[in-house]
Amino acid sequence: MPVVACHDCDLLNRLPDEAAATLLCARCGAVLQKHKPDSIERSLALTLAALILFIVANSFPFLAMKSGGFVQETKLLTGIVELWRQELYGLASLVLITCVLVPLLQMSCLLYILAPLKYDRPVPHAIRAFRLLRHIAPWGMLEIFMLGILVALVKLGKMATIVPGISVFAFGLLVLVMAAAVTVLDPPLLWARLDRRP
Ligand SMILES: [Zn+2]
Repeated sequence: MPVVACHDCDLLNRLPDEAAATLLCARCGAVLQKHKPDSIERSLALTLAALILFIVANSFPFLAMKSGGFVQETKLLTGIVELWRQELYGLASLVLITCVLVPLLQMSCLLYILAPLKYDRPVPHAIRAFRLLRHIAPWGMLEIFMLGILVALVKLGKMATIVPGISVFAFGLLVLVMAAAVTVLDPPLLWARLDRRP
């Protein structure tokens, strides 16, 4: 008999035979499971959109500073190289990991799991990939980076004319789309689909 533990009060609840839209804890009423329709397709579509936005965000300058006829453009990756050149190794590594590598790894894991599931193909090491996805999630900090850009826009506004590039908008959308891609996922359904035991 499949059971599910309540996150709030630890009560083990029996899963009903028929899939219910929303499953509540019998003791405290917390939401145990919520069925999300077409979660795999929707998450896959959002992840593909996020990947395109990520490429756009990294291909164009996210800031252009105009000062006295002199224009300086900065891309995320050139910004990281510049930090490294200024011997800010820790900061450069942190930005590279939290704003480039982790989001890229998150999108790769999602695509790796969801694309074969969509077409009912087996996914080798899918459970390991899904665990990795959940472990690295707290290290993705695109939204903090977005805040940093906004602070820079306000602070530097007096010193130079700042022209936010197409990349800033792509980054902003990327934050929302990535959050949506993870939110529409239905982990119990995903575990059930990944469970290939006979
Ligand atoms: Zn409970």
